[in-house]
Amino acid sequence: MKTYVIFAAALAFGSAIRASDTLDIYVVDTEGGKAIIVLTPDGETMLVDAGYPTEDDRDTKRVVEAARSAGISRFDYVVATHYDADHSGNVPSVDRLIPGRVFVDHGDPMPNYDAGNRSRYYDPYIKAIAGRKRMSVQPGDVIPIKGCRVTVVSAGGKVISQPLSGGGEPNAFAPASRPGTPDGSENAGSVGLLYEFGKFRMLDLADLLSTVEYDLACPRNLIGSVDLFMVSHHGLNVSNARFLVHALRPKVILMNNGASKGGAPETLDILKSSPGLQDLWQLHYSIAGGDMNAAAEFIANPAEPCGAKLFKVTVQRSGAFTVTNTRNNVSRTYPAK
Ligand SMILES: [Zn+2]
Repeated sequence: MKTYVIFAAALAFGSAIRASDTLDIYVVDTEGGKAIIVLTPDGETMLVDAGYPTEDDRDTKRVVEAARSAGISRFDYVVATHYDADHSGNVPSVDRLIPGRVFVDHGDPMPNYDAGNRSRYYDPYIKAIAGRKRMSVQPGDVIPIKGCRVTVVSAGGKVISQPLSGGGEPNAFAPASRPGTPDGSENAGSVGLLYEFGKFRMLDLADLLSTVEYDLACPRNLIGSVDLFMVSHHGLNVSNARFLVHALRPKVILMNNGASKGGAPETLDILKSSPGLQDLWQLHYSIAGGDMNAAAEFIANPAEPCGAKLFKVTVQRSGAFTVTNTRNNVSRTYPAK
């Protein structure tokens, strides 16, 4: 009877049935876009962005294959971090194959959103989610996914006003002033998320710009330290300021760059010189990065045309976590702090 009930619940809700007690994160290769799949031990699922919309549905196929391989047939939460092509642009396409339940975003587009992009990406997104639950978030909100605490730290150009637990220390890397003026772009409006699972902390700020990173990290670091930092904005040098990355003291950094998008040499320098860093993993070899690239074994897609290999991150309740490069099955386990 119990088996029947669980099976019936799976049919009704479409969530994955979990045998595992880990938080699993899949970082899908979308060639310099973003698509992350999260599966909690409670069997709840979240998709954070869906890569690029293309004629051949390249990223749709990649996201759907990764999700189905993980036993996922529905996303409890779909986060559109911002309304650019490589983030929310492909949400409607993935949603046709793996439907979402609740759609999380930063609300109305930012003031300097381009009218062409509005009709190409924002309007179709709104049309696709019509009749379903939309959760437009503010900094400080928590996405109520079961099994992992996910806190919104930035959204719509604003950031949390109070330090998170573990944050609030003065930032020794803070510059004398803000590095430029916030530009009202969708990047600046990115929904940034802090994930906490046991003692594990992961920060993913989507494409947040350094002009807004400043508010999170200066003069006090409102976040504290993290175990895993998902590089912002594919590793472009208008994000990932030294004052942010070095203050976070990540053990591990993972970069969602493309071969010719992101992975800037200046950014790679900041990442690799971050105090206490153990490993940098890259979705792609960065052509611009040259000698600054991570060692080949830590790169999922070292050559073009790429094999669309992804990273899997498995987090234990203790806070220990393992990163696996699915190209070569190289994996590293990092103990809890
Ligand atoms: Zn992007």
